[in-house]
Amino acid sequence: MNMKEKLKILIIDDEASIRDSCSQVLSKEGYITETAEDGSVGLEKVKKTKPDLVLVDLKMPGISGMEVLESLKEIDPDIVSIVITGYATIESAVEAMKLGAYDYVPKPFTPDELRLITNRGLEKRRLLLETATLRQEKKQMEENFISLVTHELRSPLIAVKQYFDVILDEEIGGKLKVKQKEMLGRASERIDGLMKLVNDWLQMMGIKEEEIAKRSQDFDLKPLLGEAMELLQPLADKSEVALQLKPLDDIPRAHGDKITLTHVFLNIISNGITYNRKGGKVTVSLREDGEFLAVDVADTGMGIPEESLPLIFDQFYRVRGKGTRKLIGTGLGLSIAKRIVEAHKGQIKVQSTLGKGSTFTVLLPRAPQHKKQKSKKSP
Ligand code: ADP
Repeated sequence: MNMKEKLKILIIDDEASIRDSCSQVLSKEGYITETAEDGSVGLEKVKKTKPDLVLVDLKMPGISGMEVLESLKEIDPDIVSIVITGYATIESAVEAMKLGAYDYVPKPFTPDELRLITNRGLEKRRLLLETATLRQEKKQMEENFISLVTHELRSPLIAVKQYFDVILDEEIGGKLKVKQKEMLGRASERIDGLMKLVNDWLQMMGIKEEEIAKRSQDFDLKPLLGEAMELLQPLADKSEVALQLKPLDDIPRAHGDKITLTHVFLNIISNGITYNRKGGKVTVSLREDGEFLAVDVADTGMGIPEESLPLIFDQFYRVRGKGTRKLIGTGLGLSIAKRIVEAHKGQIKVQSTLGKGSTFTVLLPRAPQHKKQKSKKSP
């Protein structure tokens, strides 16, 4: 199949001689050419015939070439446009490039110059279309995979987990032998681990910066932290770890997406509990830090070896050791937290002393200044 024959070029120029000569040169090259005598006819033809490349005269009566350029992008963002500049002024060519034109040909031009620039423009078009197709395919694959994991993995896991719970409850299935109970209990824990992995992975695939930006709003960190801690209180009780929130009263509001940020704090605080010791403590506090608001989550746990510190935000990384071997985890939580915080243009840091404890700090942007002033005035 000869790709060249299929490519369509539209020439928009009010001068008949230019339209005809361009059309002749480019048809000889094997392209399908069409012409339009002004901007509005041109745009109509763009909508109808969907050309790959458009040659546009900048100076035309009626709709100007610049306006045509702007509208072209709305019709097809991957269309390649080349402007024909009558005055050969660099300024207007630059202006046109800013509006998305790919290149320009100053009048008068030779057939060779036209061929060269057009061929280059069409190569650009080919690359743009290829990129768009690949992007679409990648998105489709991701979506298929997410739905596969959700339906084919997560749903059966939930069902298996429920059966385990019923059996372990001993009410419907009858009394279990001690050994059976112990083995089923361990199997059930492994299912918990698998479920955590699937959920973490799904969450990671779902982090989209644009969506975070769309959902972002000004909010108070204090109640958000309070809620996260309330949710983790049962885990803290079970682990015999005390939770404490130490907020200052007039901390400015933060700006961000409450849903994903709640996940960040749930993760860091639950790590503070999990990697702690019996009778230990997790203290959450809030402070201003330059242009940011800082949340510190300090624990009195096992700490993190210095050589592991640069790695703990990597996907699937877990510290190996006596203390951590038995603990269920995926090594995804902190990498998810980091991605979420960075999508907020914030930072996440850690300080740790082995055997003493760790402090994770999340730096988040404040609510924009003008909003802060407004809220101060209101009663
Ligand atoms: P997970 O907790 O599921 O293993 P994370 O990404 O949340 O995954 O944490 C990665 C690793 O970092 C953990 O496995 C643990 O070894 C270490 N870690 C995280 N938080 C703490 C903490 N507060 N104290 C000690 N070690 C921690």
